[in-house]
Amino acid sequence: MSDKVKRETLEFQAETRQLLDLMVHSIYTNREIFLRELISNCSDAIDKVRFAALTDSSLLGDDKDFAISLEPDEKKGTLAVVDNGIGMTYQEVIDNLGTIARSGTRSFLEQLKQSGQTPDGELIGQFGVGFYSAFMVAEQVTVLTQKAGGKTGVKWESTADGSYTVEEYDKGSRGTKVILKLKPEFRGQDKDGDNFTDRQTLQGLVKKYSDYIRYPIRMAFISEKKPLDKDGKEVKDAPAAPVVEVKTLNSMVPLWAKPKTEIKREEYNQLYKEMFHDWEDPLEVLHSRLEGSVEYANLLFIPARAPFDFYNRELKSGIRLYSRNVFVMSDCSELLPDYLGFVRGLVDSPDFSLNISREILQHSKQLKTIGKNLEKAVLKALENMLKTDKPKYNKFWAEFGRAIKIGIYHDYGAREKLQELLLFHTSKSGDDAVTLADYVGRMPEKQKAIYYATGKDAASIARLPQMEGLRDRDVEVLYLYDRVDEFVIDALREYKGKKFQSISRGDLDLSDLTGDDDQRQAAEKLQESNKSLLKAIKDTLGEKVAEVRISSRLKDSAVCLVSSDQGISLSMEKIFQEMNQSFFKARRILEINPGHDLFAALNRLYELSPKSDEFRDFCFLLYDQALLIEGILPDDPVKFANQVARLMAAAK
Ligand code: ADP
Repeated sequence: MSDKVKRETLEFQAETRQLLDLMVHSIYTNREIFLRELISNCSDAIDKVRFAALTDSSLLGDDKDFAISLEPDEKKGTLAVVDNGIGMTYQEVIDNLGTIARSGTRSFLEQLKQSGQTPDGELIGQFGVGFYSAFMVAEQVTVLTQKAGGKTGVKWESTADGSYTVEEYDKGSRGTKVILKLKPEFRGQDKDGDNFTDRQTLQGLVKKYSDYIRYPIRMAFISEKKPLDKDGKEVKDAPAAPVVEVKTLNSMVPLWAKPKTEIKREEYNQLYKEMFHDWEDPLEVLHSRLEGSVEYANLLFIPARAPFDFYNRELKSGIRLYSRNVFVMSDCSELLPDYLGFVRGLVDSPDFSLNISREILQHSKQLKTIGKNLEKAVLKALENMLKTDKPKYNKFWAEFGRAIKIGIYHDYGAREKLQELLLFHTSKSGDDAVTLADYVGRMPEKQKAIYYATGKDAASIARLPQMEGLRDRDVEVLYLYDRVDEFVIDALREYKGKKFQSISRGDLDLSDLTGDDDQRQAAEKLQESNKSLLKAIKDTLGEKVAEVRISSRLKDSAVCLVSSDQGISLSMEKIFQEMNQSFFKARRILEINPGHDLFAALNRLYELSPKSDEFRDFCFLLYDQALLIEGILPDDPVKFANQVARLMAAAK
């Protein structure tokens, strides 16, 4: 070997140049991920040297204190990331840092080309682009490295302008030091920008992205301190002097990798609050590990409270993906079905590489398997909670019940399991809502259907005329208060072979409850004998109603409006109306109580003259009343009020 130190300037391979260009011009906002990428390279390099030392212990020499260090320098505007890992030889530096060996990177570039995305696209963050991400924040990168067991080191340097230099360099110790000359906006010169020479910032980033790296990530903190006397007390008069204190920034052992028995609930709570920025402890913690064809650990949390805008925004998954303790991505929505969007937590699986893209992830079989397991685990935990700790479940239900309901009509496959988790107040439940199993369990044998009613609250449902017949027969009725409830019932159609029956829809046949058919037959008879009257009312009301008939569900009230079994219900119509979709209309059926005095009065008017204004007015009044009971305004409220006023004025 000649005495002259070898030095070359080399061109980057075409693809690398492309990638570098992307990095340099990236306006991607999440540039801080560069640190995660560099630290994870360090961690890999230490893994490698430890592995190599298994067969050749001389590789380590005296240096067995495996560690990663961050060395920021505010004055120079640099940040160095240092490890005592395997290091690289001259040729390895050229191979690894001058070309792209990773198949992943190639596919990343392909994807970028195909999608026509600009470099600021989310892809960068999702993908992670390894070493080259350093150029998002640095104008120049210098790498000093020495292979374990090697005699001399190498210096690599580039400003990402298409070429780089490599030269032999006397480093003196094993491992790699990556020195970033930060762009001005990242070294504290831009007030609003990130300052990657700031120790607090770096500490925060390590906590966020690399807390669970298995090797200590150290940084020196310098503070002015007064010297201590022999008792350990500060010497008051002495001048303060700079004291260097090296701190380990990461906690190294991930909580989820520890055995459950060694973890206190408080530790879980702490991690949850830190990671997910919540101030309240989670309601439930699910921690488990699986080894087999797929290998992973999961740590999931059910929060105690829904975020205030939980139901109004696009659900973002709160599941993070880790691979061997290193953060891969947040919001990994592929891991849980949408309806479990309230679950927070993480999955750590060695089956995923750090640089996996979302696109590849979506097609991953392992991910699907893990996802299925997690869904099962969460549902099982909820079932358990429901069985063993109802007050706690009630709390859950108040916060996230609607998510479960949405799952029922969005996720066909989950329906069977989810229906067991539903809670309803009923005409007999009091404050403590019951499950469908509770309801069916105490249903009299002769009852064939599960009855339900919709309304604002218990009091307004209890006042519904349609409730009269059921109350009379002591039938339990589910109360649906939430606007999505009826859609849930509609999606379920039946529970354990019992059909759901709205008290305000279709032909409410209560004969099975009384055991005899008398009432029904009586109603049918009246229907027949009053045929012409009913037809006259229908003709008067015209298109407003689809049918006018004798009611078998009313007891004290004169009329009620029901909707047919087909199509949507009146309450659904109201919801659609609020959503400005008024083209969905329920088929309205006006039911009249034949036992009411009003029915007799109507009959009299009809006998006198079916064409009179009075009969006509009565018909409309009747219809408007029925609308009001349903909480729907009469079509012409002024006219309605005038008609009532006229009637009142005529009173004797
Ligand atoms: P990846 O780490 O995903 O392979 P990178 O672009 O981050 O891709 O790095 C390219 C290669 O450079 C690595 O595979 C590794 O061989 C080498 N390398 C990077 N950083 C280090 C380091 N700190 N120590 C040793 N080798 C490194």
